Amino acid sequence: MSDDCAFLAKDVVVPQVNSIQYSKSNSLISLKRGKCSSCGSPVISIFNVFGFLSFVYIPSKNIPPNINITRIDAHTFYKRRVSEIYDRAPKYYGYWSSQLNTVRILLWALLRLKIHKG
Ligand SMILES: [Zn+2]
Repeated sequence: MSDDCAFLAKDVVVPQVNSIQYSKSNSLISLKRGKCSSCGSPVISIFNVFGFLSFVYIPSKNIPPNINITRIDAHTFYKRRVSEIYDRAPKYYGYWSSQLNTVRILLWALLRLKIHKG
């Protein structure tokens, strides 16, 4: 099952290596997709929303085991699920509802961080 984690871009160090091949698309949301050059599987997606909010998607299987990811905020692109998920996290089916809700969740997370830091 495809399962990605979203991070703020500033919190992620992207290795500058030749083993990641990038393709780019530009709109209100610019997207840079990185794929493994040997097997073609997705390695990273870098989004920039309206020119100021940057975040990255990383397949959960590529997250080092020492980084503990336990909180699930939502299931996005649920239309393409491989199997049903039975938990209480909201599910977003289509492309735009997935993208917009990811942005919304990240903005709320940023706001909570700001409030927390004071
Ligand atoms: Zn590969």
